[in-house]
Amino acid sequence: MLRNFIFDWSGTLVDDLGPVIEATNAVLGRYGLAALDREAFRRQFRLPYREFYAEVLPAVPLEELEGHFRLAFAAAASPVTVLPHAREKLEWCRALGLRAFVLTSMDASAFEQQLDAFGWRHHFEATYAGVLDKRRVIHRILATHQLVPAETAFVGDMTHDVETARHGGITSIAVLTGYNHAEVLAAVRPDLTVADLGALRELLDLRHAATAAADPSAIPS
Ligand SMILES: [Mg+2]
Repeated sequence: MLRNFIFDWSGTLVDDLGPVIEATNAVLGRYGLAALDREAFRRQFRLPYREFYAEVLPAVPLEELEGHFRLAFAAAASPVTVLPHAREKLEWCRALGLRAFVLTSMDASAFEQQLDAFGWRHHFEATYAGVLDKRRVIHRILATHQLVPAETAFVGDMTHDVETARHGGITSIAVLTGYNHAEVLAAVRPDLTVADLGALRELLDLRHAATAAADPSAIPS
């Protein structure tokens, strides 16, 4: 049973699609490319973002693009908000004694600001931000915190999150609240796909109840 949850941040716990699209379009516009609307972004954008930019702006160094992106993101008018059910999901983890972590590609200082702005620091045992390719760190995270793969899930909104979970040998849970369309996510076959974190909580509550009914002495997991 799942006892450890590694959460992606953007599109999974918080909705920052507005400012991210604004900032992405500022970067694209700077080099004369057309802006993406929300739908086009959700079909085209992918992680590692190095690959996305290598495709759309192959001649520009990534560091230069990141510099423009950071400034545009900080200046964006659209707010970053908590996704529906995210707060409740984290409180649910805490109440059941389940371990929670964050693994995100988001720029570390922007992430730290949001973590404090939402007052969520206490929910996580450890957080990993500014990770360009999550596959490269997932094994280290599992080892560092002695997370048993069979009891661990990575919850995310993008195909890269599903691929990272698979790479780590842990359960992949896809949420449809973020950057990728359902059909884009379905193509990489997540172990579980849920509409949002509320649906995930309900599903896991049902599993816990079934486990408890089968073995009343079992620790809820
Ligand atoms: Mg995400």
